[in-house]
Parts: sequence; structure tokens; C-alpha cells
Amino acid sequence: MPQPYLLLTPGPLSTSDTVKAAMQVDLSTWDSDYLAITERIRSQLLTLAGVSAPDYSAVLLQGSGSYGVEAVLNTLLPKQSKDACLMVASNGAYGARIAEMADRLQINHVDLIVPETKPVTAALVTAFLDQHPEVTHFAMIHCETTTGILNPIETILPQVKDRGIITIVDAMSSFGGIPINLLDLKIDFLISSANKCIQGVPGFAFVMANCAILETCQGRSTSLSLDLYDQHMSFKMHPGKWRFTSPTHTVLAFDQA
Ligand SMILES: *Cc1c(COP(=O)(O)O)cnc(C)c1O
Repeated sequence: MPQPYLLLTPGPLSTSDTVKAAMQVDLSTWDSDYLAITERIRSQLLTLAGVSAPDYSAVLLQGSGSYGVEAVLNTLLPKQSKDACLMVASNGAYGARIAEMADRLQINHVDLIVPETKPVTAALVTAFLDQHPEVTHFAMIHCETTTGILNPIETILPQVKDRGIITIVDAMSSFGGIPINLLDLKIDFLISSANKCIQGVPGFAFVMANCAILETCQGRSTSLSLDLYDQHMSFKMHPGKWRFTSPTHTVLAFDQA
């Protein structure tokens, strides 16, 4: 075994003994205990985000944080279509990753690129939107982990949403560390993962999703396993039931964390 040492990275990071100990139990994905733990996690995440069911759903998804981001983009946006346009506001590597995903998915997008030493500001975003009335969806990073810059989503997102644009935030390395209220900030979709601020172990991403919007997106994802609509409907129809095999030990660790 490698010698244990202190991880001070954004995630994976050092986890507590109780979080590691929680993984000593083997459960199957259809145990009633396991279903109840999944549901408890989902409802606690909503509470942490200042929202509740049935308006919002905490959709858990197997994979790392990027899987959650890609699932949101693929599920919400049509492909090879000028009917929708994603604006990506980027000031670092994770913002650039969103634009790269949009390219791969053949999603129509326009990018506001800010130097990585500067925050994305409301003035820059609204000026860009004035030039791009075709924008229907907006995505940005809260904490750009690569530089540590905390972008002021609280001044940006309400103004974007007030223009009738769907708002998406990658809050991977801030959710659970910095208070974020989705209603106050007018966030429709927020993505984070098990192994960042909540200090669980890696294995799944989660999306806090505006159900009224998500439920209009049936059949839009070109990927089966990254279909956030289908994943949401699984939890809705069968409480606690993930589609496909879920990371049971990671879920137990997360519940403890
Ligand atoms: C960690 C992180 C991600 C996701 O990275 P994965 O390696 O896929 O978990 C995305 N955005 C931000 C801001 C991050 O800090």
C-alpha cells in the first residue's frame, strides 16, 4: 500500500476516517437501505442549495464532475441547430472545457473569453449579450479552480436569467464550501461532484436541476448514459434508483461526508 499523506488538492482530497470507514459496507443497488440513503442525499443536496422538490431535482450521475457538465449540455441543447445558442463565459481551463464539449456535441455556441488573471464580470457579460440576442443558454464557472478566481455569479446570473436565458453554473469546487442559493441567484442548473467541497470520494457528479426546464428535454441527449432527463425520471419514478450500476461505496462515503 502507498504511504498515506495529506492531500491539499481541490479533490480528491484527504477524507476523514469516518468517511473512509463508511465504505466498509457492501450494499446492492436495489437494497431498500441503499435506496433510502440515495434519497436522503438527494434531499440534503436540495436543502444545501436552498431549493426543494418538486421544483428542483438533485440528479446524481455516475462519473467525475465533467460527466455532469457534459450531461447538462447534451440534454439541454439541440445539436447542429441555430434554434438555440449557448454563451460560454470563460476565464480559465474549466471554462474552455465547456466550450470544447459544446464543439464536440455540435452545439451552437458563442464564447466570451476573459484573461485568466481576471474575473468574469456582469458588465462584460451584459455587454456581450447585447451583441448576441440569439443566446438562449448561458454557462459559466463559479470558482475557476485552475487559478482560484471566484467569479461573481451573484451579480451576473440574476441579470442573465432576467433576459429569459437558461442559466448553468459549474460550481464544482465551490458548492458545499461557499453558500449558494439557487433561487436568489436564479440558477437553473448547478453542477458539482462528490469529491470536492463536500469531501467525499470520487465516483459521481450531481446536478441541481430546474425540473420545469429539464422535463421539456426528453430525447434530446445524443448519449444514452449521459441523458440527464432519463436519469432524473428514474429517480422520480423509482425513488433512490439510479439508472445502471451506481458507485455504492462512494455513495455511502458521501452520505457520511
Ligand atoms: C474538478 C472540476 C471539474 C471536473 O473535473 P473532473 O476531473 O471531471 O472531476 C469541473 N470544473 C471545475 C471548476 C472543477 O474544479
